[in-house]
Parts: sequence; structure tokens; C-alpha cells
Amino acid sequence: MRDIEISFSPGQRQDKDALVEKCARACGMTKDKIAHVEVLRRSIDARGGKIAFKYKTQVYLKSEKPFQPYKIAPYLDCSKGEKVVIIGAGPAGLFAALTLLQRGLCPVILERGKDVHARKRDTARLMLEQVVDPDSNYCFGEGGAGCFSDGKLYTRSTKKGDVREVLYQLVEFGADPSILIDAHPHIGSNRLPGVIEEIRKCITAHGGQVHFNTRAVDFIPAENNGGLWSTRCVERAEDGCLKEVEYLSKSVILACGHSAKDIYQLFYDRGWALEAKGFALGVRAEHPQSLINDIQYHGKWDRNLPPAEYSLVAQIDGRGVFSFCMCPGGILLPSSTSPGEVVLNGMSNSQRNSPWANAGIVTSIEPEDVEEFSEWGPLKLLKYQEKVEQGIFAHNGGCLKAPAQRMDDFCKDRLSADLPATSYKIGAYSAKLSEVLPSEVYQRLKRSFFFFDKKMRGYYTSQSLLLAVESRTSSPVRIPRDPESLQHISLKNLFPCGEGAGYSGGIVSSALDGINVARKV
Ligand SMILES: Cc1cc2nc3c(=O)[nH]c(=O)nc-3n(C[C@H](O)[C@H](O)[C@H](O)COP(=O)(O)OP(=O)(O)OC[C@H]3O[C@@H](n4cnc5c(N)ncnc54)[C@H](O)[C@@H]3O)c2cc1C
Repeated sequence: MRDIEISFSPGQRQDKDALVEKCARACGMTKDKIAHVEVLRRSIDARGGKIAFKYKTQVYLKSEKPFQPYKIAPYLDCSKGEKVVIIGAGPAGLFAALTLLQRGLCPVILERGKDVHARKRDTARLMLEQVVDPDSNYCFGEGGAGCFSDGKLYTRSTKKGDVREVLYQLVEFGADPSILIDAHPHIGSNRLPGVIEEIRKCITAHGGQVHFNTRAVDFIPAENNGGLWSTRCVERAEDGCLKEVEYLSKSVILACGHSAKDIYQLFYDRGWALEAKGFALGVRAEHPQSLINDIQYHGKWDRNLPPAEYSLVAQIDGRGVFSFCMCPGGILLPSSTSPGEVVLNGMSNSQRNSPWANAGIVTSIEPEDVEEFSEWGPLKLLKYQEKVEQGIFAHNGGCLKAPAQRMDDFCKDRLSADLPATSYKIGAYSAKLSEVLPSEVYQRLKRSFFFFDKKMRGYYTSQSLLLAVESRTSSPVRIPRDPESLQHISLKNLFPCGEGAGYSGGIVSSALDGINVARKV
């Protein structure tokens, strides 16, 4: 029996027996007739001031065909399989590698950053000493930008493929099985590194290769190279010595994320096709989590409920302004990938237990908005993004501190006399954000907060701190590919993939893109 919906109030027992009892009652039968209850989805409904956990289930009767659990295709030994070079060990690259293994092809992952453990030391140093290692930071290294992220696994891109393929594999590698049913699944940055490490161990145990500290710097196309791509790399040894190395393969999957500016520059310099792609830019808004709980749960939040989330959208002057990557119980991070730029993002641990709720509040920027950068052709939005990030770094004399303003002061364009506490460990300083944000961004954001307050009464408040800048929402460049073969439109057997190529946004959609590309390979 499909789509049987049942609900529990917070604090009510929600174990397997209680579930079967409720389903039996909903189906008008005794529970001994039920062989299995499969939960398809669990969500929280707080509409109308009443809070309930809703379960959507599928009920299998003893008299019926038994329940068939979802099966992941087995990973095969690939040590003798054809080698496929993958640039980048983010979600797109890792899931491409797993898919190749399922077909007996041998993934050779080249990753400019370090393994998750070594990477943690560099992110700690970034927090403490404000030193940005351009190869090892919150975006670069094993696991990619997805590794120390919030690990929200919610995606709207179901058209890309079967989301279960990603979620079940994540559970196989150690993620909590609750991600299979939660409407807004979430892993948390404390758990993600362990999952990523298990994925790597699976790849290498089956004969695949993972090379860290190996930055791809050039590609020599197959037609100039006996039918094989030559991926030229710079390898960094433990002692810091650099060595040039080359990897040969028929196919290359380019999954290097939205911050691999040097790869875009390489394409640009070589005259290979690239396109400017719209992205979004704005601020991170940080509220007390207790305030967001009060608004979303109508003052009825208790410990049986998860910290509340929100999602907001408004149309201002024909452009969208929206909340992005909301992190309940989260913290703010520096996600710069080069020295000399300020970029903020958010993450949370699995418990989501910090006292803050943060989200990007961003507005879309389209190629036609940045005509002053048109000399850069397809890189014009990248140059616009860089100008804002570098301008903010310079604004406070060259440091990673974030300019910040209380929300009401932002809307009134006045300096905040003092700032509330923030989770951004590097620190914030009082500034007029109208001076550091592009004027069209400032104007649209300013108007959006009043709309948002209509949807969430109390959202507009002096308790909220706005910090600049949230600018790495998605890639400002697309590497065009043929929609059928997924190869670059002019470079045979080179497969642009994931967020950096402009075909996904977020962990799950990037992983799905990796799977799709690997299938084409
Ligand atoms: C702090 C933070 C929080 C986030 N939170 C979430 C969230 O909760 N949910 C969500 O869905 N998304 C989140 N995201 C976004 C998500 O992480 C990305 O959408 C996703 O990781 C993109 O996957 P990808 O594999 O395409 O690229 P990436 O994850 O960016 O991986 C690209 C990899 O390529 C490597 N690389 C780059 N250039 C080279 C080169 N020249 N040679 C070799 N290697 C190279 C990089 O080091 C990197 O490891 C967050 C991002 C950040 C930064």
C-alpha cells in the first residue's frame, strides 16, 4: 500500500513498533497482517501553529510480494581496467570514480589538495593565523568544497538522476541512515571527513588511484598526443619541493569545482570554449538560532525538535533575492581559496548545536549586468566576483576580518555602533556594507529584508548581523559540453563535470553529475 501518511507529535515514541501500529490503524487492519513498513520520507510540519512529525510510508502485507531493499551495484576490481583521469576529489569526482569502479574502469584521481586529515591542519591554520594555502583550504582538498560543508543533502535537481544512488552510497560509507528518509537530509562537517575517507579507501582497495598534492596545470589534447590526453601536473612533495608529472588517458573528467580559477584561465588562454554564467552574490545573515526557532515553531520549540531552518525568496527589480545554504545551529567560515580575498560561507556539525543560524542572502548577477568587465569575455563575471572579494580584503587594510552591520543599520545605511557576537572566529568589524558591495546588490538586498519579514515575522531585526561577502554560490563560468555525449563541445573525450563546469550546485547534484559523466565515459 503506497503513500500511507501518519504523524507523531514531538516527544511521542517514534520507533518501529509505533510506526507499524500507526500504519495498521491508518490502513484499517491489525498489525499482524503487515510484513514491513518502509519509510519513504520524514518531515516536520509546523504550519498553523501545530507541530507534527509526518511520515510517508509504504506498507507491505504478508500476503504480498516481499519488500525489495535498494541495492548498490558492486564495485569491481579495476586494476586491469582502462585508466580514466579525474581532476578533483570533490563530490563530482568521487562519485564519478565510484561509478567507473562499478564498470571496471580505473579512476585516477588527481587532487591539488591534501587528504582530509592533513587538510584539517591547514583549515585550522587558516582560522588561527589567517594564512590561505591556495591548494589546501575550505574548498580545496580531499572531499572538495563538500567536505567541511554543512553536508545538507537536499536537492531539487531530481531530473539529473536517482538521488537514492548518492544517498545509499553515502550510507554505505558511514553516513547516518536517517539521510535516506529525512525531507532535508544532513550529515554535518564533523562526520563528512570520515565518509570521504571511506570512499577513498574503497577506490584504492579496488585498484583505483588517488594522488594528493597534485595540481593539474595543462592538458595536451589527444590529437596532438597519439590519441591520449596528457594531463600535466605539478606535484608537491612533503618537503615542499615541486615536480612536474604527466598522466596519460583516453578520457579526462574535469571536476575541479567553482573556485579553480587557474583552470578557467587555462581554457581562456588556450582559446577553448567557455561561457560566462550567472551566479549570485550577497552577504551571510546570522541570527540567534533561538529567534529562528521562535519564528518557525511559533514559540513552541523544545529539545525534541531540530533547530529550525528557513528558505526565503523575493523578486526585486526583476531579479531574484534568496536565501542560500542555510545552516541552522551553524558557524561562519572563511572560504577564500587565494590570499588577498575575503569570502564567507557556512557549515554546521551533525548536532547543529551552535547558538547561531546563518544563511547566504544573495541576488542573481547575470552576464549583462557587468558590461564594464566585457573585455574579459567569458571570464567577466569571474573578474567581477574577484573585484568584490579583493576589495573587501583591502577595505580593512588587508585581512580576513569581515565587514559587518546589523540588519536594521544595513537597511538605513548607517554604521553599527556595536556588533552582536558572531560565530565567525576570525572576527568582524563595523562597516557600511553599501561601501563594499556593488550598488545593485546592496539596493536589492536592502529591499528584500522587508519582504522576508512579511514571510517570517521577526526576521528583520537588529539582532541579525550581516557579514560580507557570500560570493561562491555557484560558478560564474560554464565549460560548455555536448548535451548528449557530455564531452566538451570541441575537445573530444574531455568531460567537464560538476559545479566548476557549471552543471550542478551542491553536493548531491554534483555527485549525480559525476555519475552521469562517468556513465558517458
Ligand atoms: C563551507 C561550504 C559549505 C557548503 N555547504 C553545502 C551544503 O550544506 N550542502 C550542499 O549541497 N552544498 C554545500 N556546499 C557546496 C558544495 O560543497 C559544492 O556544491 C560541491 O562540493 C561541488 O562539488 P564538485 O565536486 O563539483 O566541486 P568541489 O567540491 O569544489 O571539488 C573540486 C575539487 O577539485 C580540486 N581541484 C581544483 N582545481 C584542481 C586542479 N587544477 N588540479 C587538481 N585538483 C583540483 C579541488 O581541490 C577540489 O577538491 C558548501 C560549500 C562550502 C564551501
